[in-house]
Amino acid sequence: MAEQKQERYEDSFLYKIRHSSAHIMAQAVLEMFPEGKITIGPPVENGFYYDFDLPRSLTPEDLEKVEARMREIIKGKHAFIKEVVSADEARRIFADQPYKLELIEGLEKGGFDEYGNPLNVKPEISIYKDDTFVDLCRGPHVDNTSQINPNAVKLMNVAGAYWRGDEKNKMLQRIYGTAWEKPQELKDYLHQLEEAKKRDHRKLGRELEIFTFDEEVGPGLPLWLPNGGIMIEELEKLAKEMEEKAGYLRVRTPIVSKEDLFYHSGHLPYYLESMYPAMEIEGVKYYVKPMNCPMHHKIFGSKGRSYRDLPIRLAEYGTCYRYEKSGELFGLMRVRSMQMNDAHIYVTEDQFEKEFLAVVDLYLKYFELFGIEKYVMRLSLHSKAGLGKKYVDNERLWLKTEDMVRRAMDNGNIPYVEAEDEAAFYGPKIDVQIWSVIGREFSLATNQVDFAQPARFDLKFTNKDGNEEMPLCIHRAPLSTHERMIGFLLEHYAGNFPVWLSPEQVRVIPITDGQNEYAEKIVAQLREAGVRVHADLSAQRMNAKIRSAQLMKVPYMLVVGDNEMKAEQVSLRVRDGSQQNNIPLSEFESRVKDRIARRAKEL
Ligand SMILES: [Zn+2]
Ligand SMILES: [Zn+2]
Repeated sequence: MAEQKQERYEDSFLYKIRHSSAHIMAQAVLEMFPEGKITIGPPVENGFYYDFDLPRSLTPEDLEKVEARMREIIKGKHAFIKEVVSADEARRIFADQPYKLELIEGLEKGGFDEYGNPLNVKPEISIYKDDTFVDLCRGPHVDNTSQINPNAVKLMNVAGAYWRGDEKNKMLQRIYGTAWEKPQELKDYLHQLEEAKKRDHRKLGRELEIFTFDEEVGPGLPLWLPNGGIMIEELEKLAKEMEEKAGYLRVRTPIVSKEDLFYHSGHLPYYLESMYPAMEIEGVKYYVKPMNCPMHHKIFGSKGRSYRDLPIRLAEYGTCYRYEKSGELFGLMRVRSMQMNDAHIYVTEDQFEKEFLAVVDLYLKYFELFGIEKYVMRLSLHSKAGLGKKYVDNERLWLKTEDMVRRAMDNGNIPYVEAEDEAAFYGPKIDVQIWSVIGREFSLATNQVDFAQPARFDLKFTNKDGNEEMPLCIHRAPLSTHERMIGFLLEHYAGNFPVWLSPEQVRVIPITDGQNEYAEKIVAQLREAGVRVHADLSAQRMNAKIRSAQLMKVPYMLVVGDNEMKAEQVSLRVRDGSQQNNIPLSEFESRVKDRIARRAKEL
């Protein structure tokens, strides 16, 4: 299979375009405010920014002018020229730029780069010039502004930012911009942003009553509302069905355990910062679990195992707690409590390839079900320099397991890219990134090989020759956590879930009170058939009832008036706008049951 190295963003042409656009923007801003002070302007995901200390607040009109001026500068075909300078020369060049002088000091002393970020080596001091603008900078940049398409650059907004991110420092004005190679890419990006705003899982989660947060419960600890509870049940049902077919065994483990377990697993003391603090009882410290692995290892080790018993696949929708910093919490995407589609598979080396591919196959089946068309599987490898620090110090086993994963992926014809120095502590992994229909990227799940934990827990089985051997362990969570998955699905479907996943599948809408009884009869019949259905018996008019069902994105509305009642029929309005008047209730019942049973994409 075509395997390639994934290009680092820092090495890409887009990075140079964005970095250069930041310089061009700074030039345009300084022309507008000759007394303005410049600070730093790095490329970021999807664009760039520059922080300024200016005599007044920027207005939207200012941004338009700056953007227009940037286009002129770009069209001037100016070369970007690098020069290495001494600290004294740099100080002369930036004599009236106090923020730059501070940065030069950091560079001169060593330990900081030109953005003020900590650095291991002492950097050389260099500047980049283009047109009339000079910046303290390491690059890289485009050779010439003619390599930037003036119609693929846009300024987005202004935000406040403290100098060096420290609230004790002065508040600066940060202008965000975006830049692409082609105007069409810019257009697509702006469209995606607009769609993403409409599909924001926090907004939809509130409107569709999926989840909420409560001050008193605590940040990062979602409360799942009844509609969210239904989605969770459906996802778990799906996972259990798939895992049962694949030979998994379900286990249950406690949420807290003694600290010894996490020292044994090696999570303590290294992982301490990401864990909730210990609670002490009867002189023993207990932790809430940040992951399920150690408990599953204990279950594997709870009795003697023979090669005939393997693979052993232990699955659990385990609830874990991790301490994420308050500033890093984000809706359902970064939370402190999470319910994970977890499993650990213990295999012999001979069984590894088949089992690993079976896991990959499970991922692909889920992608197909959810209509996830774009995904990348990335094989994350160790680095030699990280051995004994970031990675378990056993180069032989690293190379061996990495090779096993590579061979499995190649033999299974699974496309993947390789990324060095991205592995887990205890082994190589496949990171799976997926894209929602509007093209936003999510890192959803990993499939990891572990040769270190089985050794730490002294796991073994008796092989064919009657000798003890250590199994390998595969950690996997294709459906990620409920939190992340439902956050993703909210955006992916814009809340228009397929019938099987919709919290409310059918709403019955009587036109007048005269049909209320008939509506309730329909509800009883469909509920009996396993459909999630409600009747809207409110005093509202029909159109208002229809609107409120539409707002909740209910897939099917059944409108019933006198005619429908007499004929035991319904008039069907589907979420996609299609309509079918006067169909027998039994016909509709077969349709909805079929969609649920097949977990169909179509309505
Ligand atoms: Zn630069
Ligand atoms: Zn695990």
